[in-house]
Amino acid sequence: MVLLLLLLLTGQTACSSPSTEVAAQEVQEPTETFTQRRVVVGADSLVRGRLLDRNDSVLVATGTLHLLKLPRKAPLDTLALAKLLGWGPTTIRQRIANALPYDNAPAGYPVNLRLTAAEAARVRKARKQWPTLVLSTQTGRRYTANAGAAVLGYPAAEAQAFFNQAQRTVRGRYYRLRNGGVEGYYNGLLTGRPGYLHPLIDSLGENRGSWATDTAFRQGQDLHLTIDTRLQAYAEQLMGNRKGYLVALDPKTGEILAYVSGPVYDPATLTAPDQAKVRSEMLSDENRPLINRPAMLANPPGSVFKLVNAAVALQLGAIKPSTGFKCDQTLIKCVHYHPRPSSLTMGLKYSCNPYFYQTMRNLIQRVPDSLAGDTVAARHANLAEWRRYVRSFGLDSVLGVDIPREAPGFLPTPAYYDKARRTRNWTYRSIYSLSVGQGEINITGLQMANITAIIANRGWYYPPHLVRGIGDDGPLPRFTKKRYTLIDSANFAALLPGMIGVMQRGGTAETSSLADVGITVAGKTGTVENSEGDDHAAFVGFAPADNPKIVVAVYLENAGFGATAAAPCAVLVMEKHLRGPIAPKRKNWEARIKHRARNGY
Ligand SMILES: [Zn+2]
Repeated sequence: MVLLLLLLLTGQTACSSPSTEVAAQEVQEPTETFTQRRVVVGADSLVRGRLLDRNDSVLVATGTLHLLKLPRKAPLDTLALAKLLGWGPTTIRQRIANALPYDNAPAGYPVNLRLTAAEAARVRKARKQWPTLVLSTQTGRRYTANAGAAVLGYPAAEAQAFFNQAQRTVRGRYYRLRNGGVEGYYNGLLTGRPGYLHPLIDSLGENRGSWATDTAFRQGQDLHLTIDTRLQAYAEQLMGNRKGYLVALDPKTGEILAYVSGPVYDPATLTAPDQAKVRSEMLSDENRPLINRPAMLANPPGSVFKLVNAAVALQLGAIKPSTGFKCDQTLIKCVHYHPRPSSLTMGLKYSCNPYFYQTMRNLIQRVPDSLAGDTVAARHANLAEWRRYVRSFGLDSVLGVDIPREAPGFLPTPAYYDKARRTRNWTYRSIYSLSVGQGEINITGLQMANITAIIANRGWYYPPHLVRGIGDDGPLPRFTKKRYTLIDSANFAALLPGMIGVMQRGGTAETSSLADVGITVAGKTGTVENSEGDDHAAFVGFAPADNPKIVVAVYLENAGFGATAAAPCAVLVMEKHLRGPIAPKRKNWEARIKHRARNGY
């Protein structure tokens, strides 16, 4: 086919480039007839591009899958087969069960098991003793690491069995599960495309130019991911079967280093021919492992959002870094017992709810001279202004991350409250939950990580992304454009002492300090009230505080206090990234977290 392409191309250029004008004249000639041909070039030589991680190790490539079809009727000595394959008796039972779409599938239900090349060779050798076994091969995606399922996704063309299962089991919610990761997002570039030539042939079989624009053959492109597989796998161990997310990124570039959606699963599951039962369990799992949480779910951020409110309040002059308030629990409950928050630093360190209640009240209740005395108009104007500044953090709109179905999240507008409260006369008292990141605010995991990157950078960000190179080229152009918030860098710098204080003695995450290995972490915990069950735990932070190289955002659903659940995961990921080994001091801790993660609580 490629040879044909060359011949056709040379044939055409030799033809001294006939202009379209000439061709058009000749078409009008009544005696001359022309044939419009369409020649497809290179369709057979297209190979889907590979996915490589940030250290160029291959994560996914198209290759040969070896399949073993078990006999439909004849009884099978599974123990002897296990022996032949070098599997244990439990393994073979499990593998056959996983390949069936449901428990108690009728005997003889077709079963195709994936084998390694070595296992397939053994079966081939023993062909005589096992005449009923059928070996076959098919081309498909092969995964080298059991990590990154939510990032990698799957090619839709190989996921038909999954789509069919999903349509049968979840119907209406089915579309939300179709999240092909970067395989889906970059499908066109990964697939490549054949060339299309459009020769115009005269009655003598001569090529007389083109009747339409030709397109060139383009091979499938490799994608170079921003993910660090080692860090990704580690973060997945910490998340395990728990519900939630962990996003780690490099604030200086917006490159996502680890992207975990929990519960985690094996990336091969959705396309593998022998995972039907695993898929149907995932489809009916109430923890919804197939939802790509960091991109698709927007949640109230909780106390983590106090950082954003503080930056906006500083910018709009509602507070100064030296502003102190009383921990007045008649306004709002404070979950922590702590000394009086006599400055912003103290307010952040103790995550004092009344402090931020009063901060936001200053902001919303300002009455500028222009609105002399019209407090309703002033509240509307102030809330609108707050929202404009908060939106500049990339909230209430998609960030444009290179993964399908990113949710925009939500920030309430004045009009929203007019409608929800059925009056324009709503007061601060009825919207104060915004001050502690509760109520109507919803933001995604990617946005949580991104606002933390903005603070680390003191005011700017590159949109978070998962692909840093396409073939020999860089990332998509939009990922190299710096975006700025409406907040001065000094007002971000003012948050830092409080965020460092969070990790120090008396702070809400003091036990998650990395001071023993010389790393200063800046962080913020959050406990998010949940009317339907246990509170959610959140933590965001970056390290080293004076020269941030990694930002981590963690959200654990129904896990209780942020400090005791989310912060340890985040700082372990930081330590892993910045140092490699985990200090002996935290080994027990790490083991306990992994144990809990495996058990899903
Ligand atoms: Zn307090």
